[in-house]
Order: sequence, then C-alpha cells, then structure tokens
Amino acid sequence: MTTRPVLSVRDVGRIHPGGVTALAGVSLDIDAGEMVAVVGPSGSGKSTLLAIIGTLDRPTSGTVRIAGHDVETLTDRQLSALRAREIGFVFQQFHLADGLSAVDNVATGLLYAGVPRRHRRERAWQALGRVGLAHRAGHRPQQLSGGERQRVAIARALVNRPSLVLADEPTGALDTATGQAVLRLLHRLNEEGTTIVLITHDRDIAASLPRRIEIRDGHLVRDGVPAARR
Ligand code: ADP
Ligand code: MG
Repeated sequence: MTTRPVLSVRDVGRIHPGGVTALAGVSLDIDAGEMVAVVGPSGSGKSTLLAIIGTLDRPTSGTVRIAGHDVETLTDRQLSALRAREIGFVFQQFHLADGLSAVDNVATGLLYAGVPRRHRRERAWQALGRVGLAHRAGHRPQQLSGGERQRVAIARALVNRPSLVLADEPTGALDTATGQAVLRLLHRLNEEGTTIVLITHDRDIAASLPRRIEIRDGHLVRDGVPAARR
C-alpha cells in the first residue's frame, strides 16, 4: 500500500480583501499520523494557512487536496461535509457556548455530521471520557478551569473521530503547566493515529514535535526536524 499524503498544499497564495498578501507560494505535504508544529511571527500567515488547510477559507491561488479531494472542485456543501467528517478544530480561545453544559458543547461537534440527535449525547460523553472530563459533563464553561475548557474544546474536535486535528495556539491562553497537560493530550491522540497540525508560539513545544514548519511574511521558509530532535 502506498501512503498518500492526507494533506497536500501546492503553491498556495491568499490575498485577503483589502489586498493583504497573507500567503504566497506555500507548498507542503502532510502524511497520515504526523504531528507538525507551525511557527512564525505574529501576522506571518499561520492562521490563514490553518484556515485554508481546514477548508474554512479558500486560497486565491494554488491547490489544496484533503484526503484525496481537490478542495477547489467541491461546493460549499461538499466542503462542510468533508470538514465535518475529516477535520477537528481547536482554537486559543476555546469558543465554547456559555449556555451549554460541557457534554452539550461537545455534541455541537456532531451537528453537521448527520448523527441522529439521540446518538449525539452518547458520542459526546465518550469524547469527554477520552479527555478525562466525563465527571465534568454537566458543568458549564464558567464552572471549568481554562485547561478544562480547552479539553472540552478538544473533545468537541474529536467527537467526529476526525483524521486531522488543526489547533491554532491551543495553549496560548493557558499557564505553562496546564498548557503542557493539553499538549500531552494532543500527543496521545497523535499516538492513537490522529494527524495533528499545531500552531504555537511556544519554542519548547515547537522543538518537542517531530516536524516544524516556519512561516515568515506569508512564505514557508523552513520545513524539517527541529535541531533539538535530531
Ligand atoms: P498569524 O496567524 O501568523 O498571526 P494571520 O494568518 O492571522 O497571521 O494573518 C496574516 C496576514 O493577513 C496579516 O497581515 C493579517 O493582518 C492579514 N489578515 C488575516 N486575516 C485577514 C482578514 N480576514 N482580512 C484581511 N486581512 C487579514
Ligand atoms: Mg494567528
């Protein structure tokens, strides 16, 4: 069996409305099972790249293939379906709904996946269990610590059993110890087979991952094994 990249980005550019070139000529392949750090200064295009990889945004030039699908040829509806099936997102600010319990927040991850309502809660419970938070299922976000909120957000990203998890500064709003716990969780998911792409400002985190991609001014300037791991 030949391994095909789960994700293939070719000559991708993104010019935002107003004329800002956020990405130019970016190419990279990511294989199933990889765990990749994306680093670079603020404003260099990291979040734009992650949004394009995650099909939340479309490139203005170049091609993106995800799980064998050329994103450009898909309608918005097909893209949502692909996203719901294959991709989980985690953001720095958690983006949980205040009015919903942890388990209901996690269940929202199944809304677009065609999972019948009666199965959503059960799947959400299981996902909370995977992040060690089954005992907090009935708590609202305000009743949880920052680290717990991020684990709920990770459970929501996982509830569809995506092949790819995209995390944009997932430890950025957490203290060091809590951030490390979240990172350990992401490592464990990766060991269980989930491909992970993680934007981080944290040099130690970036150095601890097997592959690091560096973006500057919209260009990919480095892609390889961090020196600390060679
Ligand atoms: P990073 O995540 O590395 O901080 P971003 O991808 O958020 O960088 O931004 C890259 C560049 O694109 C920046 O100059 C930013 O101001 C610009 N940009 C990002 N999103 C938008 C948008 N929606 N509209 C216009 N410009 C944007
Ligand atoms: Mg960003």
